[in-house]
Amino acid sequence: MVVGAGFSGMYMLHRLRRLGLTARVFEAAADVGGTWWWNRYPGARCDIESMDYSYSFDPKLEQEWDWTERYATQPEILRYAEHVADRFDLRADIHFETRVMSAVFDETAATWSVSTDRGDDVTCRFLILAVGVLSTTKTPEVEGLETFGGRWHHTGRWPHEGVDFAGLRVGVIGTGSSGIQSIPLIAEQAAHLTVFQRTPNFTMPARNALLDPETVAALKTRYAEHRQAARMSRTGVPMTPPEELAVAAEPAEREQRYRAGWDEGTLFGISSTYADLYLDKAANDTAAEFVRDRIREVVADPAVAQRLLPMDHPFGTKRPCLDTDYLATFNRPDVSLVDLRETPIVRITEAGVETTAGEHELDAIIFATGFDAMTGPVLAIDIQGRQGASLRERWADGPRTYLGLAVAGFPNLFTITGPGSPSVLSNMMVSIEQHVDWIADCLARMEADGRRTIEATEEAQHFWVAHVDEVAGMTLMPQANSWYMGANVPGKPRVFMPYIGGVGTYRTICDDVAADDYRGFRFDP
Ligand code: FAD
Ligand code: NAP
Repeated sequence: MVVGAGFSGMYMLHRLRRLGLTARVFEAAADVGGTWWWNRYPGARCDIESMDYSYSFDPKLEQEWDWTERYATQPEILRYAEHVADRFDLRADIHFETRVMSAVFDETAATWSVSTDRGDDVTCRFLILAVGVLSTTKTPEVEGLETFGGRWHHTGRWPHEGVDFAGLRVGVIGTGSSGIQSIPLIAEQAAHLTVFQRTPNFTMPARNALLDPETVAALKTRYAEHRQAARMSRTGVPMTPPEELAVAAEPAEREQRYRAGWDEGTLFGISSTYADLYLDKAANDTAAEFVRDRIREVVADPAVAQRLLPMDHPFGTKRPCLDTDYLATFNRPDVSLVDLRETPIVRITEAGVETTAGEHELDAIIFATGFDAMTGPVLAIDIQGRQGASLRERWADGPRTYLGLAVAGFPNLFTITGPGSPSVLSNMMVSIEQHVDWIADCLARMEADGRRTIEATEEAQHFWVAHVDEVAGMTLMPQANSWYMGANVPGKPRVFMPYIGGVGTYRTICDDVAADDYRGFRFDP
């Protein structure tokens, strides 16, 4: 049984079928696509180039599909997911509008008993959580929302019919990727837009454009080689790792490299210039200051520019954003910026948002406030493993996994792109395919060897959690109050959740584990 029919669950189903196993997927949404089914806000698009942010498992699929833009829009990505579902007849084994509520492991039968919000009770041997890492939305616990007289939406639960902002006074709360993508387009429609910013973010121009057919055709002729380079790369996108240090470089030459990175229009343009950017604060400061200079350049009002400068976290320690006209939007006369650090929100009122400086009257509020990332969707399910052990209790101090794939005490349970794997630090398509392939190969091997259960050992898990933590600790990443750290959810343990050792390194570790008869796992015959 697979939970979730985003890109993870869809490919997992395809692989399970090819193994000759009987598989069913349960999905809360009404169709496939996961992230791209739910996040329909204006401006939603990928920030990994479309030709990389797509499946590689089927050469015919990748040859027949033509992306139209360098960074595809949400509707186009959703059409792609639908195309894949049609092509491999996936919907036949997916139960839509069905949310999995609990899963209990039966030690005698070695099966999982799974229940859904539709009253299904399903028994399965293997339970695969393809629930996503950014699928549990987080709306702030702010007083008075129920009294608001206008309409409000979360970017991650956007109405399918769209929202018409024409003539409205709109407030957007949040300036992460979702806010930064939607703000310029909402500003174009609304009578007035107020942006409520708690933390300014590092953002770079996406330089999105239509893909020209020659570029597409050229990449398609060497797609296999390109995909292999992605699989062994640091981030899931082919690139040569930098060796030089920013702190050792001449300022003029550093500036030139950052400029080239900025002009590239990718998430990694600047971060891949020098090897020490995420390791040494002095090095990072040089890149951070370069980006801050670009903000000062674009934003006309120096006081507004000052408020937009990210100062409280090193560059890249919160996920940077790629934007189209975000900064220039603040030059519009009908857009204002409220700095929530100067004037925090007190409550939502019937008329709008009240901060310590007074009331902002609004007709609509958009929460671009993000997600209970990585652990949220897993822990939303009441999961009980051996001896009734509760996953919620086991993870009370932060997630503990072996390789981000399995949890000690929870046999035959797998998590796709779970905490402890590169996941959100990577091109997710590459990480999803790697996990699905690893799990499918593991199940095939178990079938061949007549093994009934697989389970991570406590020792292996202990080692892996310590390793994930140690590698993160070598970087600047834990210095930010990011969602990688769980810092956006009040009360969530502060643990750096993804594995920052790199996609290729991680793949090699997983492959070695499998080749060594699944070192760190225990099988029951
Ligand atoms: P999801 O797409 O999140 O799918 C999980 C599915 O599981 C959901 O449909 C959900 O309804 C379902 N589900 C969860 N819990 C249950 C339950 N209990 N019962 C039943 N169903 C359940 N990554 C990139 O690499 N590049 C990008 O450019 C990029 N852009 C993004 C843009 C946005 C707006 C967001 C939010 C994320 C983005 N991501 C990006 C990350 C993105 O989530 C992944 O790339 C990828 O789509 C995840 O696929 P998935 O199948 O693992 O999870
Ligand atoms: P996010 O990065 O977590 O941003 C949420 C924003 O809301 C932050 O600015 C946050 O401020 C603010 N916020 C949260 N709670 C608040 C509160 N109570 N009061 C005021 N402000 C509050 O969420 P997201 O923008 O949805 O993005 C999440 C992730 O999804 C991204 O990092 C990325 O991985 C993925 N994504 C990708 C794209 C893309 O470009 N393809 C688009 C959207 C999302 P603080 O920083 O102070 O917490």
